[in-house]
Amino acid sequence: MAGLAIAGALADHFERVIVLERDRLPDQAVPRAGTPQSRHLHVLLPGGQRALIDLFPHFERDLTNAGSVPLRMSRGIRMEIPGLGPLPSRDFGWFLYCASRPLIELITRRQAERLTNVTMRPGCRVLEIIATSDGTMITGIVYEDADGRQETLAADLVVDASGRGAPTLDLLRSSGQPMPDEIVIGVDLHYTTTTFVIPQDASTDWRGIATHPHAPERSRGGYMLPIEGNRWVLTLAGRLGERPPAEPEGFMDYARRLETQTIYNAIKHAERQGGFERYGYPASVWRRFDRLRAFPRGLLPVGDSICRFNPVYGQGMSVAAQEARLLNQLLKRRATKPDPLAGLALAFFSESLPLVEAPWNMSAVPDLVYPETRGERPADFESRLQYNGALMRAAMRDPAVHRLMAEVQQLLKPPGVLQDPAVDRLVQLELSQMAAE
Ligand SMILES: Cc1cc2nc3c(=O)[nH]c(=O)nc-3n(C[C@H](O)[C@H](O)[C@H](O)COP(=O)(O)OP(=O)(O)OC[C@H]3O[C@@H](n4cnc5c(N)ncnc54)[C@H](O)[C@@H]3O)c2cc1C
Repeated sequence: MAGLAIAGALADHFERVIVLERDRLPDQAVPRAGTPQSRHLHVLLPGGQRALIDLFPHFERDLTNAGSVPLRMSRGIRMEIPGLGPLPSRDFGWFLYCASRPLIELITRRQAERLTNVTMRPGCRVLEIIATSDGTMITGIVYEDADGRQETLAADLVVDASGRGAPTLDLLRSSGQPMPDEIVIGVDLHYTTTTFVIPQDASTDWRGIATHPHAPERSRGGYMLPIEGNRWVLTLAGRLGERPPAEPEGFMDYARRLETQTIYNAIKHAERQGGFERYGYPASVWRRFDRLRAFPRGLLPVGDSICRFNPVYGQGMSVAAQEARLLNQLLKRRATKPDPLAGLALAFFSESLPLVEAPWNMSAVPDLVYPETRGERPADFESRLQYNGALMRAAMRDPAVHRLMAEVQQLLKPPGVLQDPAVDRLVQLELSQMAAE
């Protein structure tokens, strides 16, 4: 997803953009080996959706025509918060387009393929990024094509959207350049996912649902969205030893023992389609490229190669899309410079910092609530936790706070908007009530 969005961003500024992908790319919306996560629920947050529309004006139209399910926010999604109940159903006036990850990716790929100066090269595995002898200037890459032949491709800019960022790290390491610090939050999260046919008598009160666990005592969560083909995709999650079973009886029993019975009641008579898919996610990792003082000219890691977010919060694709939009703006601003690529990476790392930091902080605090989670707790951890609880209570009561909180969580607005004095007053009120209880 990062690579496709970036291709859209680069097409405005470079003569030729070549996307090298090690997988053969399917014509249909089906999972593939290079993205095993694509078998699991993927939500494209409205903030990411808008970034993709800015890059590809037909993205929303094409995703809708391909059968994605538009959910009116927040009415369409039942958010079950332990101890508080479901967040009230309110109309914020924007839509979440629900589709399988393979469909979201296929529609994004179609947009990139339509650009005349973008070429897809499937079946091509990048082996190495090549640079001048001191490693400070990138000259291209070496890749292996579908027939096993090694080829060299010269390039002015190499964007590493490989997900793991291994090519970038290998280059830095082999040329003796400083490596980025890594912040790691060990969550030991486990997913089991399957799909159901949406029954005709399904509830009309909600179309998607998130049943959050009662942390830190319990870690079982359930997340279900409608996708193309009249299906629900249901992911059951657990942490730190809780593994949702991957066989029918155990899976249903796990669903029955979530914080509420809403998901279980919805699926207990529904027809299951396909099997059970598992995914183990040990840790979120943020590589602090933004702290480096120098970086090779002509190289740029993006997306998961910079930061892998805990998937439960559904942020990764959207952050990647927002990074791509930022890169487009950055290249536009630098176009008149004598060498627009000189210092591009450091400027990108610095300007994209808020795009990464906000979602990282939003997921790190709830993740660190579990005592077993590995990672450094911020000094003000307890007060952040209290603040989050109070904000949620204020959102329950007040539609304006609810809307603002949703805008921040869905990456439409930066967290700073929550410092609005009217919102802060309501949060402070909740905090004092919580202290009195
Ligand atoms: C279980 C799970 C659920 C998730 N749910 C959500 C969600 O709900 N919402 C959300 O926004 N995000 C979600 N994410 C995160 C999301 O999948 C990623 O953040 C997003 O795909 C952006 O990643 P990327 O493009 O950087 O890497 P990837 O999507 O991993 O893509 C990397 C691509 O590079 C290719 N590649 C790798 N190495 C090479 C090489 N050497 N040569 C050529 N090609 C190569 C791979 O085949 C792949 O196609 C989830 C992640 C997981 C693990």
